[in-house]
Amino acid sequence: ALQAGIVGLPNVGKSTLFNAVSNSAKAQASNYRFCTIEPNVGLVDVPDERLDKLAELVQPLRTVPTQIEIVDIAGLVRGASKGEGLGNKFLANIREVDAIIHVIRCFEDENILREEGPINPIGDKEIIDTELQLKDLESVEKQIQKKEKQAKSDPKVRDEVAVLQRCKAHLEQGKSIRSLDLSKEEKAVIADLFLLTEKPVLYVANVDEPSMHTGNKFSEALKKVADDEGAEMIVMNNSIEAQIAELEDAEDKAMFMEEYQMKEPALNRLIRSTYKLLGLKTYFTAGVQEVRAWTFHNGWKAPQCAGVIHSDFEKGFIKAEVISYEDFMQYKSEAACREAGKLRIEGKEYIVQDGDIMHFRFNV
Ligand code: GDP
Repeated sequence: ALQAGIVGLPNVGKSTLFNAVSNSAKAQASNYRFCTIEPNVGLVDVPDERLDKLAELVQPLRTVPTQIEIVDIAGLVRGASKGEGLGNKFLANIREVDAIIHVIRCFEDENILREEGPINPIGDKEIIDTELQLKDLESVEKQIQKKEKQAKSDPKVRDEVAVLQRCKAHLEQGKSIRSLDLSKEEKAVIADLFLLTEKPVLYVANVDEPSMHTGNKFSEALKKVADDEGAEMIVMNNSIEAQIAELEDAEDKAMFMEEYQMKEPALNRLIRSTYKLLGLKTYFTAGVQEVRAWTFHNGWKAPQCAGVIHSDFEKGFIKAEVISYEDFMQYKSEAACREAGKLRIEGKEYIVQDGDIMHFRFNV
């Protein structure tokens, strides 16, 4: 599964968030799976209303959501890029994830230590950004050094160095690579560097309880910055989320959420947004045995999507029967869709759409 890493300064609520993720999954153990792969890595179900609605119609023996991995990357501090603290280790952990959930403290609490003085969400964000940018600068400079000599005789390498120089200049201005306008070819030049600031990011403004629906001055300031970057920001209260997650009984959970006027845990929103951030889409299979959500990437064709279920499905792919989610909801069963002419037969070139209900035909 693809991974998203939770990062942020100490005492901003990262572990609280990670615990909320892991507990909520454990509490709903029957249909919500979570397993801890390592102490700081968890596999979590992606909440999807469409899956629930499909299951209601099909009434299968079991319903299986799709999953993503969440990694708690603690311990980033100022100076991490110079290896301070366990800086290098944490930065190496970030290099391995596919997207970043950046938690930022937007609550005041004098009992909870803040080394950097008064609450300052933008300053906090910049500290982390700077560390990641410095580390990227190091990687880019090393790469330039490695290629410079060859660039003298090889025009192709010279072009590559030009791309690296642009990255370097951008980083030196205190900007992240994700905001640099690079073509597909230019991106390929830096792909093997796995730059930290190229990874997509989503911000969590961890606010106190009275501001959880409205946000506060801290989250508003942060929102402006996030908007400028074209990044999503989610306002939530990580402590409340952790409390909801601890409640095992569904009724208790519902009562607790009602008390706080919540329709669903903010965590669900976070996981759905993270899934989107990872560039992931979902198709469904719907049979009486199992209704199940499967993950694929934007633009994937039918055989590749079939391969998510089993590699044999891809190898032996013949065709796919496809019903759109909307049609299934309208006609309420595969048979009714077929009768109404809403079941399409698609071949190898079909680009699967988010929400498609697929049935693959294949040779073994
Ligand atoms: P981490 O170092 O970023 O992992 O931070 P923790 O999750 O361990 O949280 C640090 C402290 O802040 C803990 O005592 C939490 O209970 C507390 N905390 C986390 N979220 C909130 C919040 O939204 N409001 C308040 N007042 N405290 C919080």
